[in-house]
Amino acid sequence: MINKNPDRHYSFPWFRRSAPIRLGARVAVIGAGIAGACSAQALIKRGMDVVVIDRRSGPAGEASGNLAGLIQPRPGGGNRAYEQLQTSAYLHAVKVYDELSRTHEVWKGVRGLLSFGRDAEFLSRHSQWLANGGLPNGHGISASKADVHEIAGVDIGASGLWFPHAGTIDPAAICRALLSDIPTLYGKTVSKLEQHGDGWRVLEGDGACLIETDAVVLANGFAASQLCPEGSVPLHAKRGQISYMKATQASKKLRVGLSYGGYATPVLVNGAHILGATYQQWPDHQSNKWQELTDADHNENLNHINARLPHLRQILNNGIIGGRAALRTTTADHLPVVGPAFNEVAFKHDYHDLRHGKPVHIYPGATYTPGVYLLSALGSRGFALAPLLASLLAAEITGGPLPVDEAIHNLVSPARFLVRQLKRG
Ligand SMILES: Cc1cc2nc3c(=O)[nH]c(=O)nc-3n(C[C@H](O)[C@H](O)[C@H](O)COP(=O)(O)OP(=O)(O)OC[C@H]3O[C@@H](n4cnc5c(N)ncnc54)[C@H](O)[C@@H]3O)c2cc1C
Repeated sequence: MINKNPDRHYSFPWFRRSAPIRLGARVAVIGAGIAGACSAQALIKRGMDVVVIDRRSGPAGEASGNLAGLIQPRPGGGNRAYEQLQTSAYLHAVKVYDELSRTHEVWKGVRGLLSFGRDAEFLSRHSQWLANGGLPNGHGISASKADVHEIAGVDIGASGLWFPHAGTIDPAAICRALLSDIPTLYGKTVSKLEQHGDGWRVLEGDGACLIETDAVVLANGFAASQLCPEGSVPLHAKRGQISYMKATQASKKLRVGLSYGGYATPVLVNGAHILGATYQQWPDHQSNKWQELTDADHNENLNHINARLPHLRQILNNGIIGGRAALRTTTADHLPVVGPAFNEVAFKHDYHDLRHGKPVHIYPGATYTPGVYLLSALGSRGFALAPLLASLLAAEITGGPLPVDEAIHNLVSPARFLVRQLKRG
């Protein structure tokens, strides 16, 4: 069939799909967080032979290991593909976790979530989005102050939005459940991938070979880019700290998770609420200093409530009894990175004159690093995004139909930053 409009997004040769790998191929997934766990599951479902490798002693040892997190929808910000990605991913994640919750404890406390937005303008945009059909019927409604009081079990003193299918999750339990039947190698730090025939040798720091595989999925957060053999992706680290706050008699009545830019959970473990989360650029990712908890960050989590939900603050105390810090992985465009690793030299050769705006059909298809893929940069919403993106990645790897539009496939392509750079010249 002739494509009459070669400029349509799906015909961009630099975003073409990679050649699929054979059914039953051995795939090493590096990273046992939510990205690795979902990738491993999705690949096994498509007939691949998967092993997961992580430097920690078990699953969810880093960003995915908080005691609680929220799953919630996100309104669009004007970009249609972005909005479609966020909404489809959220709805898909809810479905996946509901299925998983038949056999594992996934949701914590009473189901559902109240959202107040980080400020009045955000809340108004979010309400408008909902009123315009942003979510299917029954997935979100406006809640008056009185509704909020009744749903929350305490007087929050604000109106908001009620998402009955969203809620508070147990992130580590989800990763453990997804990885429970999958072969794993824990306590192993991957330092390099070495091409070996048609496949890859996955090497430890001392050069010892951990495993030989047909393909590798880099789901190891910020470190993913460092392991790309032929082209790096600009990833950024953002430190986040959560605070555990001892409950008061009054705050124990809080029934559901609250989102207000930050978030507060009902009492979960050790009689404490979990308050989240700070967000700080973290260039010093080589040292482990990011793990150290700071009082300034605990105060920031408290001040967030002061600023947005002062009524709630009145029933809480200052009894911070602990916390946890981790690094999120992000990109400059705040979108995840999903797809084949690329060959930077070939891209620079084949697309050196992209800035001239010539017709796209004159260019050759993208040159990828065969058998190496990434799923990273899940930012602050890894648990909402990972199930759908893992399914997209598995379709890319095995050659199946994509679970999302081609526009979303292109939007998250690891090569997009290099393509933008070449277009700028
Ligand atoms: C404070 C905070 C609060 C958050 N709250 C929420 C929330 O409420 N809801 C939500 O959806 N998201 C939340 N997030 C974001 C979410 O946690 C992340 O998006 C998600 O965990 C990222 O998953 P991941 O698998 O990509 O990374 P990780 O969970 O970090 O997994 C990467 C894994 O790779 C391993 N690894 C790295 N390098 C190597 C190597 N060289 N060799 C072997 N193994 C390696 C690491 O040990 C790690 O286990 C929060 C994040 C933070 C920091």
